[in-house]
Amino acid sequence: MKLLMHICCAPCAVAIVDKLIDDSDIYLEGFFYNPNIHPLEEYEKRKLAVQQLSDDYSFKTSFYNDFKLEYWKKNLGEDKLLRCKTCYSLRLNAAAKFAKENYFDAFTTSLLISPYQNHELIKDIGQAIADKYGIDFYYEDFRELYRKGREISRGKYYYMQKYCGCFYSYWESDHPKKPVYDFDGHNEKNL
Ligand code: SF4
Repeated sequence: MKLLMHICCAPCAVAIVDKLIDDSDIYLEGFFYNPNIHPLEEYEKRKLAVQQLSDDYSFKTSFYNDFKLEYWKKNLGEDKLLRCKTCYSLRLNAAAKFAKENYFDAFTTSLLISPYQNHELIKDIGQAIADKYGIDFYYEDFRELYRKGREISRGKYYYMQKYCGCFYSYWESDHPKKPVYDFDGHNEKNL
């Protein structure tokens, strides 16, 4: 099976790659499309980590650069369900379209590893988009691999983000090591 994996970030993808790359029935490629990562400085750090992952495991990853900070500011808000639904749809739609155009049999996403994402929603959106493009959605509940992915990432010194991605999630995160970023006046007081 020729499988395209949408990669949200290296720490989420690495344990899945580590597992699938040894499966002789699967030919794996990665696809980086994450316009939800704000600001640009953070986007570049995560993108670089995915390039490191791709090099370490010797598999091809296609990078599709896009950056939608203004889109998030204008169209999405604190309503997390609507915001994340739009975010998953944007990313999985791009992955499915790329997979279809490049003759993959199926697509999947590293988002399926995270216990912090809305797993059932990702699964439903992935399946709906697969039906739209006439391609398979490779679904597996990868959440049991989450801890392993963190361990491998620490060993390989991959950049480990401190918030999900968009600037709303930046302000929602209470991680003590969160980097200091400026979002052009969009601070927690005027979200
Ligand atoms: S919280 Fe995460 S999944 Fe939800 S919109 Fe922001 S970046 Fe996307």
